[in-house]
Amino acid sequence: MQLSPSLAHAEARKGLQPALSYQGGSVPGWQEKARSKLREIIGFPRGPVPSMKSTTLWTRQTSVGTIEKIVFPVETGQDAVAYWCVPTGARKPYSTWICLQGHSSGMHNSINADYEDETRPIIAPGDRDFAIGCMKRGYAALCIEQRGFGYRREFDLPGRQQGTTTCHDPLVGALMIGRTLIGERVWDVDRGIDYLVHRGDVNLENLGILGNSSGGTTGMYAMALLPRLHRAIISCAFARFSDSIVARHHCCCNIVPGIMNWFEMADIVGLSAPKPVVIVNGKTDPIFPIESARSHVREVQRIYQACGTPDRVWFVEGPEGHRFYAELSWQVIETIGSD
Ligand SMILES: [Zn+2]
Repeated sequence: MQLSPSLAHAEARKGLQPALSYQGGSVPGWQEKARSKLREIIGFPRGPVPSMKSTTLWTRQTSVGTIEKIVFPVETGQDAVAYWCVPTGARKPYSTWICLQGHSSGMHNSINADYEDETRPIIAPGDRDFAIGCMKRGYAALCIEQRGFGYRREFDLPGRQQGTTTCHDPLVGALMIGRTLIGERVWDVDRGIDYLVHRGDVNLENLGILGNSSGGTTGMYAMALLPRLHRAIISCAFARFSDSIVARHHCCCNIVPGIMNWFEMADIVGLSAPKPVVIVNGKTDPIFPIESARSHVREVQRIYQACGTPDRVWFVEGPEGHRFYAELSWQVIETIGSD
């Protein structure tokens, strides 16, 4: 007698060949078909793109540059909150990274500021002070709060069960109207790019995206689908779906319905080719196993090789667990070339 639903799913996955996994041949031809399918299943908002109009909540001078907290619309009835960070002495147009936190108390970690009182300094754990890292290296940063995290947590639903993740309620709402949280988060990145375009002082030729954990996941899908992104650091978010998302306990916000019928994770990263991508994994990360990442990255490298750009994808192993490795990641970025 076998009563475990999960074992039934494992049985169903045996021998599953994702229908749009890269099988050789023209990479651009494959990417066109694969992007079309991914765009369909990821479930973007369907409403109109709002015209860009940002509001500044506060501006502050710090030892590494100027930080501005802003709000901008992302769809009808929904705004995003973000920090726009410009390093001291930077020249226009600014080389810029979009920075995304994973499951945590939110984007305040990116600027080493307290959640409740953003004038109070903190030290974000695991190198998660992404914007500080960018500004110290001369890059501007747009730190977008992802839906379900930090200042965009779900606060208002009645009857909310204690102990459920902050992603549960928004994910249920999204799935019931044919969207996903990943799709909405990628959509918000696209609106963040609208904000940067609207500013008129950003170098759009080398715009990058970096994130850790669910920030890396959004970055990976955003690079696959948004042509205005040009490079990425995907940290602690890469391994086979079959060894990570469905094999370990992961937050429900990773769900893209039916995705394993079409792709493995290497295919999603392969949609970035030939743009530069740095994949970073922690050697003892329990939810994105290093053995899976090491072998699966070869599939990504095969796609970049077929593009004639094998030197545009890097695999970096951090010595610890599920965290960002700032020095190791930025060392690789510096090898991509000056901006
Ligand atoms: Zn989540």
